[in-house]
Amino acid sequence: MKHLLMPHYMFKTYDEITPEFLTSLGVKAVLSDVDNTLAPYEQPEPDERLHGWVEGLAKAGISIAFISNNDGERIELFNRTLGVPAYWKSGKPFKKSLLHAMKDLGTDQSNTVMLGDQLLTDAWAGNAAGLKVIIVPPIRDKRNLFFRFKRWLEIPTVKRFKKKHGIDW
Ligand SMILES: [Mg+2]
Repeated sequence: MKHLLMPHYMFKTYDEITPEFLTSLGVKAVLSDVDNTLAPYEQPEPDERLHGWVEGLAKAGISIAFISNNDGERIELFNRTLGVPAYWKSGKPFKKSLLHAMKDLGTDQSNTVMLGDQLLTDAWAGNAAGLKVIIVPPIRDKRNLFFRFKRWLEIPTVKRFKKKHGIDW
């Protein structure tokens, strides 16, 4: 079961994941979690930074789709200005919505990655679907960021990953 939780890559924030890096992996589509991966729960719409990141991906020919376990009200509003394919109440860690998204995007396991902040839902679903998995620490209330970040880094799978790959943050 452990391998289902193990990411392939870790970044400090989503926007450190560059189009160049994704292109070097042959990635054509990013399936991304929303809450605490791209924005905190309490932020109803994308900020400029996220718009810029999505535009940068698009310029490199990389699609993005949202795969969220949150409800349609949250995700439709969040996606209002971006208008990317979006799947809510997606039932992660089950892979069904990821397979659905790849079918809609015309991509497959070889050129799609899963991005998220949670090992038990995002990494699991991505691994179950046979995708490369990229994990970022959860974005939360800024006041608690440091402590939450530290706690996330103490998760055994995250610690193992860091050790294996020599990540020193
Ligand atoms: Mg999340």
